[in-house]
Amino acid sequence: MKHILLLATGGTIASRPTAAGGLAPAITSEELLACVPELADLCAIDAVQLFNLDSTNVGPAQWQEIVRSIRENYAAYDGFVIAHGTDTMAYTAAALSYMIQNSAKPVVLTGSQKSIYNRDTDARNNLYRAFVYAVSEGAWGVQLVFDNKVILGTRARKTRTRSFDAFSSIDYPETAVFRDTRLIPFLRRPAELPPVQFYDQLDPAVFVLRLVPGMRADIIPLLAPHYRAIVLESFGVGGLPGGEQGKMFAELRRWCDSGRLAVFTTQVPHEGCDLAVYEVGRAVGELPGVLEAHDMTPEAVAVKLMWALGQTQDRAEVMRLFETPVEIDII
Ligand code: ASP
Repeated sequence: MKHILLLATGGTIASRPTAAGGLAPAITSEELLACVPELADLCAIDAVQLFNLDSTNVGPAQWQEIVRSIRENYAAYDGFVIAHGTDTMAYTAAALSYMIQNSAKPVVLTGSQKSIYNRDTDARNNLYRAFVYAVSEGAWGVQLVFDNKVILGTRARKTRTRSFDAFSSIDYPETAVFRDTRLIPFLRRPAELPPVQFYDQLDPAVFVLRLVPGMRADIIPLLAPHYRAIVLESFGVGGLPGGEQGKMFAELRRWCDSGRLAVFTTQVPHEGCDLAVYEVGRAVGELPGVLEAHDMTPEAVAVKLMWALGQTQDRAEVMRLFETPVEIDII
């Protein structure tokens, strides 16, 4: 029988109504397991309560705590299931994908849209399926299990705020799907995996700026004292208002001349960006210090930058790390 470690971190799955009327995490890892007694037939389980937070309050410090716990327990278990809030689960999935690379053992995130004590909850189903995937043959790497899908950590995105079918795999097939109780795998663990590699350093000095028509360029110098990298969520396949003659171009050139980094991505949910296509994008794409996010998800872009900035102060090396595909984040 496989041995899995459950890491409980809070989220709706572990929430109860508070006296003030909102939902807040309160249910422990042991209580979660007691709600799904069938798990005992599947595998041996130990549980730790890392923290009990709404995932709106989960960020780099908590990602480091999760990674520390998995690293310490890596040899002792066959896999890991993390119960987590859904709101920032895609960020945590991306973060763990960069901080735990080449893991032959599965690290599976799950959560739910309704508390595990709700009569019509999706929590028991999701928790059970997360364990089914974790003990399955060929399971590997950081994955998110939700509703009937298993999704790679670098490709997951929350695309619905209320439905049980809350997560999508962006521009890539699901790792597996559930048809009723049957798990149907589409992707399996690569035959040759280098040894697992853990990283613990992150630098959160990353700002994401969503462009809107008419936006003033003087926002960019205001950010410079606080951030090493800016992500510009541009339009379509990518461009900068005003093109090469515009004020934004001049500010971005100054930003890059100061040794900072700018990454272009798109507001369009699918198929990524390519600055070389239009005149409004071509020149900015050629500035030293400007990168493109290709077809990475917005969550993966922001977190990969934090991870790359955490490894080195050298901009060229940060750019190299960002451009190198990790766990199928760039297709
Ligand atoms: N606010 C909750 C959280 O992210 C939402 C959920 O878990 O579905 O922790």
